[in-house]
Amino acid sequence: MPNEEIIIDSDMSFAEAIEGSAAPLEVIDSLSMIDVTYYSFDGLRHQGQMMVNATLEDDIYEIFQMIEKLKFPVGKVIPIIAYNWEDGDSMADNNSSGFNFRVIEGTNKLSLHSFGRAVDINPVQNPVIYPAGIIAPAGATYRLKNNGTFAAGHPIVQEFIKRGWHWGGNFEQPKDYHHFEKT
Ligand SMILES: [Zn+2]
Repeated sequence: MPNEEIIIDSDMSFAEAIEGSAAPLEVIDSLSMIDVTYYSFDGLRHQGQMMVNATLEDDIYEIFQMIEKLKFPVGKVIPIIAYNWEDGDSMADNNSSGFNFRVIEGTNKLSLHSFGRAVDINPVQNPVIYPAGIIAPAGATYRLKNNGTFAAGHPIVQEFIKRGWHWGGNFEQPKDYHHFEKT
């Protein structure tokens, strides 16, 4: 809506958003930062920024257009440098993000987030659930009736899958309900 007020959650330059990243230059050069708009849990329209691989920019931009149209609430979308590259802190704050040069939690394998090929949306409503029942972020619950929650068959999940992405809710384990990736 043209005249609707928008709340700016993030307004960084590209240089600000990658400062201090451990990623090699060729990875940095493959990234693109896009502005996305969405309704947050306060019911108001917000603008944030997401850093993704440049080849996936259109997918994410268009999926966020769908997210906004459906008024599927998204907490906030802020490049993870705002959390000193700490995924745990970003998740605990229910932040949605893409690029982060890091290993998969509990392994020494680089995550697809390292190449901007994965995005996480609403980790508090869509936590990771590890085999022994451990949940991250701590204290989060996965309840399908909660607004902002993904499930198999949800139109947003289907849109990702239609575009060749994989949803972490379909992973064997851990179940990573906020995670989408495209190789
Ligand atoms: Zn993820």
